[in-house]
Amino acid sequence: MMFDIINRKFILFGYPFGPHDFFLLGLTMIASIVFIFLFTAVFGRLFCGWVCPQTVFMEMVFRKIDYWVEGDHKNQRRLNESAWTGEKLFKKGTKYAIYFVISFLVSNMLLAWIIGVEALGKIVTDPVEMHLGGFIAMMLFTGLFYWIFIWFREQACILVCPYGRLQGVLLDPNSIVIAYDYLRGEPRGKIKKSERRSHGDCIDCKECVVVCPTGIDIRNGTQLECVNCTACIDACDYVMEKIDKPKGLIRFDSLNGIKEKRRKSFTSRVIGYSTLQVLLVALLSYFLATRSDVDVTILRTPGMFYQEQGDDKVSNLYDIKLLNKTFEPLEIDLKLHDNDDGELKLLGDKIVIPPQESAQAKMFVLLEKNEIKKMNTPIVIEVYSNGKEIHRIKSSFLGPVEKK
Ligand code: SF4
Ligand code: SF4
Repeated sequence: MMFDIINRKFILFGYPFGPHDFFLLGLTMIASIVFIFLFTAVFGRLFCGWVCPQTVFMEMVFRKIDYWVEGDHKNQRRLNESAWTGEKLFKKGTKYAIYFVISFLVSNMLLAWIIGVEALGKIVTDPVEMHLGGFIAMMLFTGLFYWIFIWFREQACILVCPYGRLQGVLLDPNSIVIAYDYLRGEPRGKIKKSERRSHGDCIDCKECVVVCPTGIDIRNGTQLECVNCTACIDACDYVMEKIDKPKGLIRFDSLNGIKEKRRKSFTSRVIGYSTLQVLLVALLSYFLATRSDVDVTILRTPGMFYQEQGDDKVSNLYDIKLLNKTFEPLEIDLKLHDNDDGELKLLGDKIVIPPQESAQAKMFVLLEKNEIKKMNTPIVIEVYSNGKEIHRIKSSFLGPVEKK
């Protein structure tokens, strides 16, 4: 994969795409948006907790470093509130140094996606002054990631991410979300020994609130800030186990699932999104399957009639337009299909199309007069790229028809 936005070069799964494939990009984006709508309508904000790189890095890498260096959240809070001692200095210094190294690696990875591994290798190995722009970009990205993971954190999900802000319109009561079973949990109340309990199962221990990275209380209902990390589910299950109650007071469920105790996945909205998604994917697959590395157009030069070439031959002039979609130069050859007596004469040098560029050429096609039986004779031209046949272009040949 490569997304070189600056030079407008894109590689997906090894296939090169350029500005001429813009409609494919547009179609892919529309299909992706419909997929996000569909996925969110069914599974809620599952993407945020388990796929989004921001959350994955935060929960699987940086939060683990916090725990490893500073201990659990109670120890972390204690350390933050304590005075600066040698131990605090050592722990904070270690943590921030590890953060910086990982941010630098993430920044290199992102740059490799944008400019390619070879170009990144040169920035890393050549003297700095040879790639000053690349070096500055690398440092800016490192600084950005460092700032995000050290300070900004979940604020990216709450304040910046457009997907998060769309939740209000994407979710409906049948979408699966992280939900608190208020029918089972309420009325909440502290557990007291030797007291007959008349409350619901929530003992108001607030463990679900303490572990929440975005600081919300899921018992107040689904909220924009919830990134579906499921930390509250784990915390509450642990509490339920301790007080000998069934797990799942907080769980993946829809609001209707909690209220009516049944889930409805195939709503009319989901069916509509699915149908649109299938159509878009089919269309995209068709365009991708029929896409070739070279676009060729061959047309008779406008305004030109046929030319007599001696007593026995007639020629037509053609315009050729070619587009090379690959990142390699291509040498193009043209031949007349199934016509040994006809001739094809290129005006000028051999056609070589530079990578990701277009080329134009002109050629004569000459046919024997006795081959021409009508005013407009169909011909087929074979197009070869680096010796391999890639296209057969149909065209027509104008010629004189002898009066009988
Ligand atoms: S962790 Fe469970 S029991 Fe404790 S406050 Fe949250 S919902 Fe209630
Ligand atoms: S409410 Fe639960 S799932 Fe949502 S962000 Fe907080 S801890 Fe994660």
